[in-house]
Amino acid sequence: MKTPEMIEKEAKDILSSLPETLTPKERAAIPHMDMPSQSPEVRIRNMSEVALGYTEDEALVEASRCLQCRNKPCINGCPVGIDIPAFIHKITERDYRGALSVIQETSLLPSICGRVCPQESQCQKFCTVGKILGDVDKAVGIGRLERFVADHEADNVEVPETAPSTGMKVAVIGSGPASIACAADVRRAGHDVTVFEALHKLGGVLSYGIPEFRLPKRLVEKEISKLEKMGIKFEKNVLVGRTRTIKELMEEDGYDAVFVGTGAGLPKFMHIPGEDLVSVFSANEYLTRSNLMKAYDTDASLTPFFHSHRVAVFGGGNVAMDAARTALRLGAEHVDIIYRRSREEMPARKEEIEHAVEEGCNLLLLSQPVEIVGDENGIVTGVVIRKCELGEPDASGRRSPVEIPGSDYTVPYDTVIVSIGNASNPLIKKTTPEIETNRRGNFIVNEETCETSMKGVYAGGDIVLGAATVILAMGQGRKAAAAINRYLEEKK
Ligand code: FAD
Ligand code: SF4
Ligand code: SF4
Repeated sequence: MKTPEMIEKEAKDILSSLPETLTPKERAAIPHMDMPSQSPEVRIRNMSEVALGYTEDEALVEASRCLQCRNKPCINGCPVGIDIPAFIHKITERDYRGALSVIQETSLLPSICGRVCPQESQCQKFCTVGKILGDVDKAVGIGRLERFVADHEADNVEVPETAPSTGMKVAVIGSGPASIACAADVRRAGHDVTVFEALHKLGGVLSYGIPEFRLPKRLVEKEISKLEKMGIKFEKNVLVGRTRTIKELMEEDGYDAVFVGTGAGLPKFMHIPGEDLVSVFSANEYLTRSNLMKAYDTDASLTPFFHSHRVAVFGGGNVAMDAARTALRLGAEHVDIIYRRSREEMPARKEEIEHAVEEGCNLLLLSQPVEIVGDENGIVTGVVIRKCELGEPDASGRRSPVEIPGSDYTVPYDTVIVSIGNASNPLIKKTTPEIETNRRGNFIVNEETCETSMKGVYAGGDIVLGAATVILAMGQGRKAAAAINRYLEEKK
């Protein structure tokens, strides 16, 4: 693994030898800049961010790899349609403020999306350089450049202007990325916006789910403080559906429209024997205790935490990687990630899997947990695992796991973290039956406007899409905001 110093030297050497003009072939041949990172041995002993971000020289080299393609294929891969070649061109001119302005035309959270977007399956997947080199990992590092611009200009971000007050009120339920995006755009149009959040901290999964070592919480706090400066009000510890229903918000409290961005925070379980033992956690609970309630900071936090030695994490997505890497940082000596398909089918980002493995997590692939066993005190002592092989592709297009009879074996663990997916919380659905949902409990909305079956109520993000991504949630929040602004204009 290259050290940050080695990468910086490489960047300086390349920059000093770059000619004024380059042919597309020469540009594509410029080496891809690695992301400087903390070394695995160091980072598993702290909660600080793993990826350190490009220096200016590194960003300039990476930006110079962009061919400025006329047909801009990368933009088609970005759910919010950032003008990628335009912002990268501004970087090559060292106009970082200009680059940020281009990004902010369509994206509100570049410092966050630049870090957590699954770029390899979105913008970078379509990049011509990646295609020429036959390797999506060698595409222009669009996300890394976006993060560089956002970090470089962190102190120059302006609070968006808001139109004069319209006197109309909008309630936004939840404070994750879908709600943040919606609240900002509705407020810009001059409407009065109040965000109701069930938890005592704002930011949704950005605060309670994604760990500090991938997404520093100061960035989320900064975004929220920008919204506060725009005049958006926040009410924490309000569980809509219990504290107030949507109907009460509209009929008694005078809200003219409502946006629901309550996410998919209800963990799924495997329903196997032993799942009710004491040291079995959902990844949600495990990560919330660590991230939101700072269980890792034993000097400053009283949050109780289970001290694990051998941990089994069930699942192969980003959430499973986050839980496994958190367990290591909290002192576990051995962490196995148990997944029923092969590494190729794992839904987690490639980079996250690589980071987890570098840090010492083991991948137990083609393995299905069938039972959790415990001692007389109800504490986990092990997991019975059944071997699998890959069969025919299923509805998702991935080859399905087929269990091998008679292949069961038991591995000792003292902790199990179940991370096999999340569903939406049924509370609002139960208290507001007017809102139509599908069989998974997700809200059904008009694709163009994000309006639900209840007039004046809009929804977006994971509550509609199921567990999706930050940028998709944000995209829906913005779409809903545009529709809410039109609706309120007509209602005036
Ligand atoms: P959320 O972020 O879930 O926010 C919903 C908010 O609503 C929460 O704060 C919740 O407390 C609140 N709420 C719920 N019910 C109520 C109620 N009744 N009343 C009031 N408030 C309520 N995506 C990526 O793009 N990249 C990643 O690397 C990535 N990693 C992830 C890692 C983890 C551990 C998890 C859990 C998810 C990850 N995701 C990732 C997915 C991404 O975070 C979500 O798709 C995104 O946050 C969804 O945004 P949202 O606004 O719809 O909901
Ligand atoms: Fe790529 Fe995400 Fe940025 Fe869009 S927002 S350009 S998908 S990193
Ligand atoms: Fe640049 Fe790649 Fe987009 Fe072409 S596809 S403009 S090379 S980022």
